[in-house]
Amino acid sequence: MDDENRVLNTDVLVEQGTITQFTTRRQRSSLRSAAPLEVVDGSGCMLIPGLIQSHVHLCQTLFRGMAEELPLMEWLRTRIWPLEGAHTPASLHTSALLGLTEMMLAGTTTILDMGTVHHQSAIFRAMTDAGIRGFSGKAMMDKGQGVPKSLRESTAESLKRSEASYRALQRSQHNQEVPRLGYAFAPRFVLSCTTRLMKRTAELTQEYGALFHSHASEHKGESQEVQRQFGMTDIARLYQLGCLGPRTVLAHGVQLTASDRKLLSQTNTRITHCPSTNLKLASGVAKIKAMQRAGITVAIGADGAPCNNRLDPWTEIRSAGLLSQIAAPDRAQALTAKQAFALATRDGAKTLGLGKHIGSIEVGKRADLVLVEQNQLHTTPNLDLEADPYTSLVYSTTAADVRHVMVDGTWRIKNRTPTFTDTSELHRKANLHARKLQSRAGLAA
Ligand SMILES: [Zn+2]
Repeated sequence: MDDENRVLNTDVLVEQGTITQFTTRRQRSSLRSAAPLEVVDGSGCMLIPGLIQSHVHLCQTLFRGMAEELPLMEWLRTRIWPLEGAHTPASLHTSALLGLTEMMLAGTTTILDMGTVHHQSAIFRAMTDAGIRGFSGKAMMDKGQGVPKSLRESTAESLKRSEASYRALQRSQHNQEVPRLGYAFAPRFVLSCTTRLMKRTAELTQEYGALFHSHASEHKGESQEVQRQFGMTDIARLYQLGCLGPRTVLAHGVQLTASDRKLLSQTNTRITHCPSTNLKLASGVAKIKAMQRAGITVAIGADGAPCNNRLDPWTEIRSAGLLSQIAAPDRAQALTAKQAFALATRDGAKTLGLGKHIGSIEVGKRADLVLVEQNQLHTTPNLDLEADPYTSLVYSTTAADVRHVMVDGTWRIKNRTPTFTDTSELHRKANLHARKLQSRAGLAA
């Protein structure tokens, strides 16, 4: 997966977290290396770039199955917000680790996460434990109907706590050549943020070279409420407040108008497509090809466990491909398998400003690599993988086919087993914390 999209039958040499050579077996025997080489046999597999999910909520993993069959605003007000407000640092760490483990077992190596209002350090701690690459930031919300007291903060508090979280993260990353973790300021959406909060956050994003991560244009009802309050679409409102630009990543974009697409394209703002969530919360189908034709970079994300309910990038890639056929019934207008796969690799990397470092397998890039089995019954026959690897990857491959996962040159999943956590202990802790959380939020059955 280099610039020319070549598919190679080769060995890949990784040294100190970087891809340094494509080699043959004969060249390998003559390599001189300070440390003994570890040789991993990839027969029957494809080596792909680590998958990128540019919109997730690790804080919500423990809410899986607790917020079913509700439209977006009711889903937020009656379930998600009370549950987020009931988190402790310990429950939040477990929620994040559960989400990370699920995503990494499926081959995810980079994420853009939105935290909850409090305890942001617990999320960064879990991301460090798992060794994933990515961005997160505490959710910011200083107004809005139905926001519980536990999550409400003043404008000044929200800005101060976000800056403090940013600084704490910077201190922990200072000696890394390519920092694995970055900060993403996260005003939740225009209905939950004042003008001052949005404007100042856009300034902070620029000052610190961070990301701006929010939701926009998701559900019809939400868009109508935005129109009622501001007399314009949320994209126009974000533009007016100076919040659009190449460091801004907005989840959804289901309700975009043609003029919204123009604004996003002019400002080089990125969109994350979350197809499963858009279906489950009855928001609709985002028009990916129309966005791409307008020049917008689109990536992909599983969003949160209570609105999906998986955090599986393969489901999202496949859904994006399938749904593009409905959004554009003319075959020529739908996503090809290669384009669908790019959402989670090249386009994801570009979305996060990491195109130079990740998103493809090229000499000089960081070694975020996934070995996926291609000799399963459900991927057979598969006679000409080198000519077209994408059809098998997008439409036949599942998360369970991922064998090994490397981030920054370190194995994080080996033989389908995480190297950073004990899954049976994680399972036990997740159930325990979920039960307590549900009762603290007043939602226990
Ligand atoms: Zn979301």
